[in-house]
Amino acid sequence: MIVILKENPNPRQVENLKHWLQSQGITIHESMGVHQTVLGLVGDTTAIDIDLIQALDIVEDVKRIQEPYKKANRKFHPMDTVIDVGGHKIGGGHCQIIAGPCSVESEKQIILVAELCKKAGATMLRGGAFKPRTSPYSFQGLHSQGLKFLLEAKKETGMPIVTEIMDISQLDLFEDVDVIQVGARNSQNFELLKKLGTLQKPILLKRGMSGTIQELLMSAEYIMAGGNPNVILCERGIRTFETATRNTLDLSAVPVLHQLTHLPVVIDPSHALGYSKYVPSMAVTAAATGCDGFEIEVHNDPAHALCDGPQALLPEVFADVVKKINAVRAALGWEPTGK
Ligand code: PEP
Ligand code: MN
Repeated sequence: MIVILKENPNPRQVENLKHWLQSQGITIHESMGVHQTVLGLVGDTTAIDIDLIQALDIVEDVKRIQEPYKKANRKFHPMDTVIDVGGHKIGGGHCQIIAGPCSVESEKQIILVAELCKKAGATMLRGGAFKPRTSPYSFQGLHSQGLKFLLEAKKETGMPIVTEIMDISQLDLFEDVDVIQVGARNSQNFELLKKLGTLQKPILLKRGMSGTIQELLMSAEYIMAGGNPNVILCERGIRTFETATRNTLDLSAVPVLHQLTHLPVVIDPSHALGYSKYVPSMAVTAAATGCDGFEIEVHNDPAHALCDGPQALLPEVFADVVKKINAVRAALGWEPTGK
């Protein structure tokens, strides 16, 4: 349930209302906009008398939220959530580019790619240390050593790092990671999501490969219900009948999610397309949706990459993509990426 307050309400009456709601076992999330304050009520609101609240002078409107996602719902929190990752803001008009190889392969490789990505305009470094591979015989990542190399690359470049967790048991290793990625395959690993809800660290939550937008929001809700509001959503392509591309990039997810939720939305064109020749045009196209960020795979030597080489951009191609993304943003009157 949400209670929308009138402009400039009497502060004492607001306090009285809040105390009364709290005495009914309700937790209140206050969201202050420029003109309006919204009180989001969490808990069992079935016994709350809507008419009684509606009749108060300070109250503009009271609504029950019909959607099953509450904390992720824009009705609950009308302003965009802006997440700060090491001084780089995502959301609310701030757009960041996360780039790097699919997997960390060596210290030298990750530092080299990190430097090239930073030079091209990326503000965060990605790289998998734990890789969810379809085949158990494929490279599985360097695990704790990969995380150590990522932290070295962070030290060298100053870029915050984004890397995937595959299991709750790995969490202790992620202490110095700036953004924990939950991959498509774990998008509905509810026990993992609940655990990540106990942190305050930003979580980059990918859409499941056959997940609906509502399912993605429910997964975000699992993290938020636990007390972690720092969720970044990621559209990375969904599985359709089409086989010409690895997945189908659902760009409509951006305007739809921006309508339904206040959480930032990042586009990953690499896993959506699966072939480097298609990634640039779709990354540039995605810029026009007003997404809050990009996650793009870049490799210094894609032909010899240990994972996802066919979709990795060469650093020089990536640099050109960043320029074009910013040309689109400028044409639409938006701030460049990285601000
Ligand atoms: C990745 O980011 O390398 C990855 C495995 O992504 P996804 O979960 O979207 O397949
Ligand atoms: Mn990958």
